[in-house]
Amino acid sequence: MIIQLKHHIDSSTKERIAQFVQSLDYTVSEVSTQKGNYFVGIGKKEIDIRHIGSLEGVADVYRVSENYKLVSRKWKQQTSAIELGPGVLIGGPEPVLMAGPCAIESEDQVRAVVDHLKQQGIRVMRGGVFKPRSSPYTFQGLGIEGLRMFHRVCKEAGIYLITEVMEIAQIEQMYDYVDVFQVGARNTQNFNLLNALGKTDKPVLLKRGISGTIDELLQSAEYVFSAGNEQLMLCERGIRSFESAYRNTFDINAIPLLKEKTHLPVIADPSHGIGIRSHVAAVALAAAAAGADGIIYEVHAQPERALSDAQQTLNFEESAALVAQLKRLAAVLK
Ligand code: PEP
Ligand code: MN
Repeated sequence: MIIQLKHHIDSSTKERIAQFVQSLDYTVSEVSTQKGNYFVGIGKKEIDIRHIGSLEGVADVYRVSENYKLVSRKWKQQTSAIELGPGVLIGGPEPVLMAGPCAIESEDQVRAVVDHLKQQGIRVMRGGVFKPRSSPYTFQGLGIEGLRMFHRVCKEAGIYLITEVMEIAQIEQMYDYVDVFQVGARNTQNFNLLNALGKTDKPVLLKRGISGTIDELLQSAEYVFSAGNEQLMLCERGIRSFESAYRNTFDINAIPLLKEKTHLPVIADPSHGIGIRSHVAAVALAAAAAGADGIIYEVHAQPERALSDAQQTLNFEESAALVAQLKRLAAVLK
């Protein structure tokens, strides 16, 4: 059960509500975010929630039986759009594109991609500076110095940036240089990291775990939300399956299902989703048709020379063709 509290509620009114709910054999957790104050009540007993709705200080009350509560669409019908800045609304009527290299490699590389994105009208650039690589002997990213450069070049160009945070200690270092914190598939269930990101006021993109279920993804999102951060979006990036013909199995089903289950925006990552450059566009189009609120994909001036994920990275020509196809698709879907 979610009890939405009135703004400016005083502590004694809050206490009375909590005691009443506890008297019904429900535990109460208080959640305060940038946008509101809530009590999440967990219990087994069937109760008439109208009693709670009529208590002083209660704005509304919702019955949510899933393990995840605050991220559920059961209490919030409207998609919770995130405004990165003027004209960039994630979860609004138009899908948002985010593109860039897997890893930030050099200032020249970033400038080339920024120019490409500007030509294509893309306002958000992706790129990792802390890279979760399977092998410790491969390029691990440029680190915080790389992020400072990435940020400087993006800001000059009016581009927002999204980059992966791998551990709690990086949050503070990165904070001033990040528009969206990405949580990678290897950290989807790093609950300490999720809690810490819940305490920041920057948007978070949470990827689905490598072998993560949809329910697990939603519960991970609940960690961030319940720790205080409502600016949250989810990302389907493919899961590990028995199929070895491609890097991951992009789960197209997840897009409409997540849209039904949660009010959070849902982003698709076709690059990691299939891992094969020549098929990234097809998967991106499928995800857009399935209702994704955004597409995040990898692009590089010279994919063959990319220091990571070269095999799934588009060149500028392929990226431009994808943008044109997505525009045509959007017109048809309208
Ligand atoms: C990435 O976005 O480059 C990345 C490492 O993604 P994932 O966490 O989905 O593997
Ligand atoms: Mn990558």
